[in-house]
Amino acid sequence: MEEGARSCLLQSRSSLEQDIRASYLMDHMISDGVLTGDEEDRIRKQAVALLELLLRKDNQAYISFYNALVRESYGDLASLLHNSLPLVSPEAEKSFSDGGTRYVQAVLSEGGVPQRPVVFVSRPALMNRVREKLYRLQKEPGWVTVFGMAGSGKSVLAAEAVRDHALITECFPGGVHWLSIGQLDRSDLLVRIQSLCFRLEQQSQEKDPSSSLHRPPGSLEEAKERLRFLMLRRYPRSLLILDDIWDSSVLKAFDIQCRVLLTTRDRSLADCVSGPKSEVAVESGLEEGQALEILALYVNRKPQRLPEQARSIVRECKGSPLVVSLIGALLREFPDRWAYYLHTLQQKKFKRIRKSSSYDYDALDQAMAASIQVLSEEHRELYIDLTVLEKDVKVPAKVLSVLWDLEPEEVEDVLQDFVNKSLLFRDCHHRPYLYYLHDLQLDFLAEMNRSGLESLHTKVVRQYQQRYSKGPPTSGDEECLYWFRFLTYHMAKANLTQELYSLMFSLDWVRTKAQIMGPAHLINDYLEYSTILDKENSEVRGHFQEFLSLNGHQLEQRPFPDVVQLALSQPDSSEVYRQALLQAQERATRG
Ligand code: ADP
Repeated sequence: MEEGARSCLLQSRSSLEQDIRASYLMDHMISDGVLTGDEEDRIRKQAVALLELLLRKDNQAYISFYNALVRESYGDLASLLHNSLPLVSPEAEKSFSDGGTRYVQAVLSEGGVPQRPVVFVSRPALMNRVREKLYRLQKEPGWVTVFGMAGSGKSVLAAEAVRDHALITECFPGGVHWLSIGQLDRSDLLVRIQSLCFRLEQQSQEKDPSSSLHRPPGSLEEAKERLRFLMLRRYPRSLLILDDIWDSSVLKAFDIQCRVLLTTRDRSLADCVSGPKSEVAVESGLEEGQALEILALYVNRKPQRLPEQARSIVRECKGSPLVVSLIGALLREFPDRWAYYLHTLQQKKFKRIRKSSSYDYDALDQAMAASIQVLSEEHRELYIDLTVLEKDVKVPAKVLSVLWDLEPEEVEDVLQDFVNKSLLFRDCHHRPYLYYLHDLQLDFLAEMNRSGLESLHTKVVRQYQQRYSKGPPTSGDEECLYWFRFLTYHMAKANLTQELYSLMFSLDWVRTKAQIMGPAHLINDYLEYSTILDKENSEVRGHFQEFLSLNGHQLEQRPFPDVVQLALSQPDSSEVYRQALLQAQERATRG
């Protein structure tokens, strides 16, 4: 093996050993003829041994290993190896390299811009249109709206448009910062902007240690000002990408004279903000040739050599990139089923469950149903559990390990199966990885499991209670944040009102949640669930809400204040006061 390739393997060794499931990759490598059956037996399930063996092999093994990583959706690990690929054939280069330079990769990864999907085709005309509009932001701030139907490939296109050395150096030398928005309320929006500000401040501190980190902004207005300052002073000439905006009020929070690329289903959204604007329409489907290319990449054949049904499949789903990917992933596993999947798409039996929409979702429904059908029964049940996730929320495997009561390694295996089938997507910018569904997939699951929703949410709550019977997690990691953010949501959806009352009418919960997430979310919870809480006791709900609004600014301070002390200054008729008094007395008796 070449020296550069060997050195790259050694440098990336610990990431590779930690994250890969060797057994998935070995099938590809055996079929490439670089591993023998005997060697497979020796290293089954052992990433460490696989790496060991690889280091003793030649360039072909390196390339095969790289390709196996790509095919099994380990895009980020593959990218570690990409720059040292020895003698890559022109064809592999075309399908797998992401075209960006090392500098571009670094800028985009720092800004959280998603990577290319593992199987990707370029849409040059469309991408040039977006780039041309982005060039207009070279000299002055403004807005570029990329609009189109759900699943038409807007996010992929936005990420692709900025994967360009000249564009970044000439127009956005301050960087590119990606923010996933989706459907969210004011408190969620605040949290998103808080974390963006935190990310920006942290990065700028790394570059200039004399700049300081501030406490998180406490209100949307404050957040907007903080962002304005950061974009103007610390990140001039940078691009903010706002992915999947639904609401013009959200957009107003970013009306701060900066450069914005937004993706949305609603063309007129940018009407409410000031500054120069331009827009690009994304057709809902890919051109036939591009859709065929996706299928061809999945099944590892040339587009010209696809069977005749391939064209009909593309026609049937109108070139929807999401559907073509789902079908492609199925065909990768069952290469003889072209006619069968075409027939599945034509059946349209799921039509009745689809709500009205200007977009024809039938094909998605059929493709989803077919993909779910080929899961093992056990995995199918686990997949259905994902119905309870909120749209646009990404979860770490640990949350699913609680929900499914499985060991983390088993969870990773299940998730890998879903990712391989394009039933689930993985955000590789985070460690540990985060997983999410496209919102059309969530729509499908919600429709399919409409009558079982309550019990699915109940399962989440019960599994949480079982795992955390001694008290909530306090690590502050992604899993812990998930529970603090969504436990109340699952309880409300499960109709577990008693559980919801006792959680939300508890000073302990308020203290821990405020400490971990700040008060904005908590205040929002009381507003959101007021109708349910008021059935038990509207006065108590009022006590908690009042306590939070009076002390919100204090609860943002670090070091975190003594909540019992704060609560003792509430009127003595307040439930918050009563619980604080009990805790104070307990403290006194404990000494
Ligand atoms: P939107 O933002 O319009 O809802 P996305 O950009 O999230 O749609 O795309 C949906 C899915 O379609 C992606 O997860 C990916 O699987 C597939 N896809 C989109 N664009 C492409 C492309 N150019 N090449 C291959 N697959 C694509």
